[in-house]
Amino acid sequence: MTKKSLIAAVLASLTFATALPATFLSSPAQPTYASSAKAAAGSTVARAVKKTGDLNPSSSVQHFSKATYTKYSAYFDKQYNVDRMSKSSVFTKHRATVYTPSSQLRGYLAASMKTWNKSLGSTVFATGTKSHHTITVNFGTGGKDASEWDGLYKTNKLYVNKRHFYSPSYMLTVLQAISGHKVSAPKTAADKAAYEKYYMGFWEATITHELGHSLGLDHTPYQDDIMYAQSGDSSNSIKYSWTSSKAGNGTVAALTNVLSTRDVNRAKLTKLLGYW
Ligand SMILES: [Zn+2]
Repeated sequence: MTKKSLIAAVLASLTFATALPATFLSSPAQPTYASSAKAAAGSTVARAVKKTGDLNPSSSVQHFSKATYTKYSAYFDKQYNVDRMSKSSVFTKHRATVYTPSSQLRGYLAASMKTWNKSLGSTVFATGTKSHHTITVNFGTGGKDASEWDGLYKTNKLYVNKRHFYSPSYMLTVLQAISGHKVSAPKTAADKAAYEKYYMGFWEATITHELGHSLGLDHTPYQDDIMYAQSGDSSNSIKYSWTSSKAGNGTVAALTNVLSTRDVNRAKLTKLLGYW
């Protein structure tokens, strides 16, 4: 893909993607626990899981009792690539308070928090203060592994790779990786504006991705998911390994900062599992 057609494709996907949140908003049904205190039979749970798409815990697995989610948590973890990733004090009444001491990151963080809050229909991430917060967002250098990540979430700390954030050429590398072709530095005003838009979308999406980890979401191979990663290693709570991406609906969440229905369903499931 040439740079121009990449821009066209991304813009087209942006237009398409902006139509999505309205659907989420018009159906703000939050998962609620069934009244039964007993755990469902394993075969019932397996049958419900079978009805769902790959890594997409849609409605058929969102109506079980708390006892069912507790009993089969390891099974749900593995089927949908989820796991508890925050320490239990991060979320109180399904809400975390997030603070960044960085004025550079504040705007990006606000956009990322809004993305989750809008899609989930409640204030999952609230703005904290220096003295009152449960998640800290700041720049990190990541030591010698810094080249391997853009963002990182650990226990209750979220890091953004400072070197990549301030690199004048890193975004070109990202666009090149996504398009599969060489992308040259923007020269015209229009190209510069498009580049700026990608840059902002990319760093917002990076923080949104890391906040997804705080909710207990691990990676998927789908490029339209905010939780997309280029590769995945089969481990205890990962459904399968992958080394190449799957297109999904054709949008690139890493540039648009828009959640897929899969992202949202997975977050609803991790709420039911008690991870946030
Ligand atoms: Zn990640």
